[in-house]
Parts: sequence; structure tokens; C-alpha cells
Amino acid sequence: MFRKSVRAWVERELTPYVDAWEEEEIFPREVFKKAGDEGLLGLKYSKDLGGAELDYWFTVVFAEELVRSRCAGVNMALMVQSDMATPVIHDLGTKEQRDEFLAPIIRGEKIVALGVSEPGAGSDVASIRTVARKDGGDYVISGSKTWITNGTRADVITLVLKTDPDAGHAGVSIVLFPTDTKGFAVGKKLKKIGNKSSDTAELSFDNCRIPRRYLLGEEGAGFYYLMQNFQGERLIAAIAACAAGQLCIEDAVKYGNERQAFGKPIIKFQTWRHTFADLVTELEAARRLTYFAADLFNRKLPSVREVSMAKLLAGELANRVADRCLQFHGGYGYVDEFHISRAWRDLRLITIGGGTSEVMREIISKLEGY
Ligand SMILES: Cc1cc2nc3c(=O)[nH]c(=O)nc-3n(C[C@H](O)[C@H](O)[C@H](O)COP(=O)(O)OP(=O)(O)OC[C@H]3O[C@@H](n4cnc5c(N)ncnc54)[C@H](O)[C@@H]3O)c2cc1C
Repeated sequence: MFRKSVRAWVERELTPYVDAWEEEEIFPREVFKKAGDEGLLGLKYSKDLGGAELDYWFTVVFAEELVRSRCAGVNMALMVQSDMATPVIHDLGTKEQRDEFLAPIIRGEKIVALGVSEPGAGSDVASIRTVARKDGGDYVISGSKTWITNGTRADVITLVLKTDPDAGHAGVSIVLFPTDTKGFAVGKKLKKIGNKSSDTAELSFDNCRIPRRYLLGEEGAGFYYLMQNFQGERLIAAIAACAAGQLCIEDAVKYGNERQAFGKPIIKFQTWRHTFADLVTELEAARRLTYFAADLFNRKLPSVREVSMAKLLAGELANRVADRCLQFHGGYGYVDEFHISRAWRDLRLITIGGGTSEVMREIISKLEGY
């Protein structure tokens, strides 16, 4: 029932508009509010904040069904709001922090971004340089961030910075940063090859003063919190990658039944039937691994190994699936008439964002003791 209702919401509120939003390279702010009104932004969060306190499988369904909008840009923006920038607020926030920031985010009234990456530090999170200096009851923040999704219009940023610049990863902390703070500026909105309707921005912080009560959890424990937070982000990426790969195949097969060459539908050429048989088999395996990781994550069991494997496998595979499906469309795959060209561009992000495939391999090999 939940899957049906999300699918209907996506068909009603997203699908008819995504082509225009991709063209405009932004979607209306009210989409967040509509998702909030539908209860989609707080599925796993506490009821007292307006959430639904559902288990993680509802989030899995939400992520899978969003994919059917065929527009990863708007999907990513919504999932940053529901699942990437907010788990740390929910899990670590005080009652005051949750009421002030998380409740309006769940309602879709405030937009949130996750500020980790910097011009000089992406994979190597511990070497971020944005710094918060203590001054009485305040933090004074200076530095810059880049690649920040929802960055041009976020009202609040879950901001990762250094409270002790000399302490390596032990100097990392996370604060809640309201973007109406003096000294904050949105720099360039970045032009991208895909996910175009999602805004991605450079941000700068010039002696921005925020109260120290906006610190999330303990000072110096931010690296540990962030690594935990990454698990949810990576799992969403794996779930979306599997669903997107499946949808590319569905769309391609439909196309291949209509398109004729040498007197028959192109799907009837054995080389393509076997290509799709291989891809759908690999996707099934990737989805099973992803669901296994989701099950561990849902039961709050250790899941770093399985989540990293799922993101690695599903991310790389979805790119290969999209590439083969584009090839199957011939020239029509290279123009914007069919969904596949956008899927091919959008999916390229999955092996980069939220931890690259190489970083996933690093984590897996370390856990395996290599
Ligand atoms: C569209 C988009 C949206 C994004 N949204 C956000 C967001 O909302 N918030 C946010 O904080 N960030 C965001 N990011 C940033 C994203 O998470 C980073 O781009 C990613 O983590 C990689 O960091 P980097 O770009 O600095 O690459 P680098 O770290 O410079 O990596 C460059 C290359 O070196 C490789 N490499 C690095 N370290 C190793 C290693 N140890 N072993 C082997 N290879 C290695 C990488 O795999 C990669 O191939 C976004 C990025 C994009 C493109």
C-alpha cells in the first residue's frame, strides 16, 4: 500500500514536471513542502517531530519509487532532506535542536543541506579545513564547502568542520548552521553533466558567528558520527542504483519491442536478449546484497562492510546497465527524446558521490584485512 501511494505521488507531483525542471536546472521549493505534507520526509523519524517511526524498509520503498520520476536530480535533493543531512540531527540532536531544525525540515518548510566536501578535501574527510573557533558562547566559523546539494537555497546546513584543526579526525565536529548567519555566502551554482534539476553549490563562511548550543553531539566526535551517517547515504545510493538499473532495462525492453530492424523488433536479436539476461541477473544479485545490507542496517547491526559492497557493486553495475541500454537505443539513445540519456548522465554520479568506488574498495579491503 505504501509503495502504491508513493508511486501515485511521484506520478502526480514529479513526473509531469521533471523535463521542465531539468531544463531550468532547478525545481520549485514547494516540492519539499508537498513531500513533507505527504509524510515522506520523516518516515523513520520520531512522531513527536512529525515523523512516522517506520522501519527502514519504508525508506527503501520510498527511494525505489522516487526513481520512477526518471529524474535523479529532484530525487537526490529530497533524499538529502530525508536521509542524508538529517539522521545525525535526529540521532544526536537535543530536544531544542530537533524542534528548531528537524521538525520544520520534516514538514518541508526548511530546506537542509549536508556540508562535508571542500575544494581541497572530498574523499579525505579528515583533512577538511573549515574551522570553528570558540569565542565566549559562540563558534566563529571560517572556510568553504563545495559540491553541496541543495546548497543555493538551504535554510540550514548540517555542517562538518574542525573545532581543533591540529587534531586530525579527532578534531572534527558537526554543527547546525542557519544560512541567514552574517558572513555566509553562496558562491557559484555548479554546472553539471547530470542531476541538473538539483542545485549544487560552493559555499563560503567568513567569520560566521553561531551559538555553541548548535553543536551536534560531542565536540571532536564528528568524524565518527559522519562515518555512521555515511552508511545511510551509501545505502540509499545502492538502493537507487538498483532501481534505476531495473527501470533502464524496463524502458529499453519496451523500446526494443517497438523498434524494428532487419524485419523484426530489435529485442529479438539474440545478442541483446542475452545482454539483458546478463544484466538483469547481475542486478538481481546486486539488489539481494543491497537488501541484505538494508536488513542489517534496519536491525542496527554492523553493516559497514555490506553497505560499502552494495554501493560499490550497484553503483558500478547501474552505470554499465545504463551504458548498454543507451547503446540499445542506437542514435535515439544519444538524444534527449528518451529517458535513457538522462539516466546515463545521472547515474554517473553514483560511483562518485557519498564516497567513490575507490574509497569503497579501500574500506572493504581494510575490513577484509588486506
Ligand atoms: C553532484 C554532486 C553532489 C554532491 N553533493 C554533496 C553534498 O551534498 N555534500 C557533500 O558534502 N558533498 C557532496 N558531493 C561531493 C562528493 O561526495 C565528493 O565529490 C566525493 O566524495 C569525492 O570527493 P572529491 O570530489 O574531492 O574527489 P577526490 O577525493 O579528490 O578523489 C579524486 C579521485 O581520487 C580517488 N581517491 C581518493 N582517495 C583515494 C584512495 N585512498 N585510494 C584510491 N583512490 C582514491 C577517488 O576515488 C577519485 O577517483 C557531491 C558531489 C557531486 C558531484
